[in-house]
Amino acid sequence: MTIQAVTSTVFTYETDKVKDSDGHTHPGPLRTTKGALLTIACEDGTAGHVIASPADVGEDLLAAFVRPVLEGADPLRHEKLWYELYKWQRGSGGRLTDRVLCAVELALWDLIGKRLGQPVWKLVGGYHDKILAYGSTMCGDDIENGLKTPEDYGRFAEWLVSERGYKAVKLHTWMPPIPGAPDVRMDYKACAAVREAVGPDIPLMLDPNHWYSRQDTLWLGKRLEELGFLWMEEPMEEASISSYQWLSSNLALNILGPESMAGKHWTRAEWAAKGACDMIRTGVWDVGGIGPSLKCARVAESFGMSCEVHGTGAGNLAVCAAIQNTTYYERGLLHPFVDYDRPPAYLRRIDDEMDRDGYVHMRDEAGLGQDIDHDYIEANRVA
Ligand code: MG
Repeated sequence: MTIQAVTSTVFTYETDKVKDSDGHTHPGPLRTTKGALLTIACEDGTAGHVIASPADVGEDLLAAFVRPVLEGADPLRHEKLWYELYKWQRGSGGRLTDRVLCAVELALWDLIGKRLGQPVWKLVGGYHDKILAYGSTMCGDDIENGLKTPEDYGRFAEWLVSERGYKAVKLHTWMPPIPGAPDVRMDYKACAAVREAVGPDIPLMLDPNHWYSRQDTLWLGKRLEELGFLWMEEPMEEASISSYQWLSSNLALNILGPESMAGKHWTRAEWAAKGACDMIRTGVWDVGGIGPSLKCARVAESFGMSCEVHGTGAGNLAVCAAIQNTTYYERGLLHPFVDYDRPPAYLRRIDDEMDRDGYVHMRDEAGLGQDIDHDYIEANRVA
């Protein structure tokens, strides 16, 4: 069986989230936005799908890079196809990003799973059939009773733990353009308020501003040690591996990284080898798919480290389920004014339904596990 067609369908849907001028997501008024469905279909009609950002699966990208690699190929030879796409990256003038690679690879895995009649999380490892989620907050804002003050964080974290069942919480604190941000002392106050609210036994993590100085980062890290935090991620520019080596050698607190640094599993291996982190970060949209994420996990395993997966959604959930050396699935982003459990119009169920004990259970259905409403997408497609 060979791949016959690669297509993307752009559609509209309503969202109650907005992005600020620095790209951070906050609650906002209801507005219409666009999504895209990437489809990889074989000649017998078997098809794999994934929901992606329209920019990552544009017709120009499919025509220039994706179709020449995929059409006529055997979908089961996913590693070969990934490498053929990856090798296009250097000559693509920056157009063929890791996010494009990820979208294509996720749809390819969905196709493989459907063809074999198996869920992807089992095909790629199947270690966990359920996994604890941590509640991952949105960044701080200036919304009254939102995430404006340390007390707001404390109140929301208490609700996440006692009312919603989360067994761990991660804060994203205030970042520009929020007035007064960034400020390590405000970050510390939010972390202290959350620790006070949830008690000593709930694991907590912090993801603050990404451009702190060494001095500010060390000050904050020392305070997080006192508060018993599990990890801190990306407090400084990740391109400076030396700064992270310095930080890790000066803190008992676990440093998790790299997250946004380019270079896929090769960069993660460098960080592990140089002692720049205590736990390795991957994420399917950061490193180009499930395959390279699994390689990051093997690198971490070989250095006796855990591999903590960045971001939400079916692809990241499949990686969490597949590997042994991970702790949590990141569920979010969460905010007091956003109903995370309500599916967007293009899904019948959200990818990561969570039970009252804080577990996300893996699905038995064949494929990636996204419950896509194809009728909705067809009815709302953009001509
Ligand atoms: Mg992060």
